[in-house]
Amino acid sequence: MENNILNFTAVQLANKIKAKELSSVEAVKAYLGRIEKTEPKVKAFVTVLEEQALKQAKDVDEKISKGKAVGELAGVPIAIKDNMLITGTPCTCSSKILKNYVSPYDAAVIEKLKKQDLVFIGKTNLDEFAMGSSTENSAFCTTKNPWNLECIPGGSSGGSAASVSSRMAPIALGSDTGGSIRQPASCCGVVGMKPTYGRVSRYGLIAFASSLDQIGPFSRTIEDSAMLLKTISGYDAKDSTSVDVPVPDYNAELKKDLKGLRIGLPREYFIKGLDKEVEQSVKNAIKVLENLGAKTEEITLPYTEYAVAVYYIIAPSEASANLARYDGVKFGFRAHGEDLLEMYEKTRGRGFGAEVKRRIMLGTYSLSSGYYEAYYGKAQKVRTLIRRDFEEAFKKVDVILTPTAPTPAFKIGDKADDPLQMYLSDIFTISCNLAGIPGISVPCGFTSNGLPVGLQVLGKPFKEEDILKTAYHYEKNTEWHKRYPEV
Ligand code: GLN
Repeated sequence: MENNILNFTAVQLANKIKAKELSSVEAVKAYLGRIEKTEPKVKAFVTVLEEQALKQAKDVDEKISKGKAVGELAGVPIAIKDNMLITGTPCTCSSKILKNYVSPYDAAVIEKLKKQDLVFIGKTNLDEFAMGSSTENSAFCTTKNPWNLECIPGGSSGGSAASVSSRMAPIALGSDTGGSIRQPASCCGVVGMKPTYGRVSRYGLIAFASSLDQIGPFSRTIEDSAMLLKTISGYDAKDSTSVDVPVPDYNAELKKDLKGLRIGLPREYFIKGLDKEVEQSVKNAIKVLENLGAKTEEITLPYTEYAVAVYYIIAPSEASANLARYDGVKFGFRAHGEDLLEMYEKTRGRGFGAEVKRRIMLGTYSLSSGYYEAYYGKAQKVRTLIRRDFEEAFKKVDVILTPTAPTPAFKIGDKADDPLQMYLSDIFTISCNLAGIPGISVPCGFTSNGLPVGLQVLGKPFKEEDILKTAYHYEKNTEWHKRYPEV
């Protein structure tokens, strides 16, 4: 039975729990058992919420046995990236500076999940403050790729991606500032989605770069991501960038066919440096979609080549402002100093890791008077041009297909000492955040050494249903999502 439980999708699991064929406590126990066996190898979690999860599960079972109304994913365990607040639970951002920090309130997404009766199984590892593409920047440990324990799981939401891939959780939440949901999803062979900026409230998500950050789902199937997206979406007065537009019933939208769907293939994404096997898998995926009635055409997104440069001005600038609050006074860790300034310096010097310090310095520099116009101001202008590229493209096509990442997962340590190489891991995902549009990564094959490859589908703002539907029909007509890593 235990293995069966682990093989159910979140939607299947919820249906069984609602039909009382299975209790939420049984489901949570099966996952905790899996964590006990697998976590020592994969290291996906910062905190496992064993007691709390069992109690939550018991409460859901009681509600169901009393015939009370419950949410669509009631009783299903979910893993949460450790940069979202759950009342009374540690939230570290995988940073020493927040090591002993306990959340005083619930993030908006957590409140929604609680209302819908989901069960929090643990908090997952990430690159410190979500800065990175490999989880190697975590202050606590590097998460391993379940398909090959010598490889990175991607990042920054590497823990969430690895937990779903290795069946330590059926679904998870991550955050995506420049690719941190889609790139690890691609590396770990699972579905990962970044919604439109403003679709999901960022209240209670510890800020990295506020104009780019967005929370989104991880799952093994598109149907599960669609259901989870519906659960966490919607207007929130506590997030001033949240947008008040209706949330469609994504799962109903999935079933509509692809006849006449116009797919754009941007020439700037099929370039030198793209791994040959990745390219082949993506090309095969395009054929599958063409056979299902979609029409493809080449398009151009001319400002693509500036995306990484623009991102590495804007994201560090916002990060340098957002991280100013960790000063040893308000949160978490404090080092001793003879006076206030020394205390600040030692706290930040010891509390933050190398990558976070690099970003704070880059950001402070680009925002400093004298350089502001040349760097930050210029980057904002080019960001507008990148957004316009997409506006133009979406006059002609409904969705855009690209590889999610230029290469499959690389070896742990390969790029750890070369930040510029590491930054290129997000070359195909960053533009989507700069433009504020939705994007999804869906498994589309494996390399000859057995590492997963991801297909990225980008869509118009607030048209998540278009990319979900495209990915759903692709998934239905392929078998990739049925493979499990042997970890
Ligand atoms: N890898 C990118 C960075 O290091 C994106 C991270 C993210 O999306 N949080 O900033």
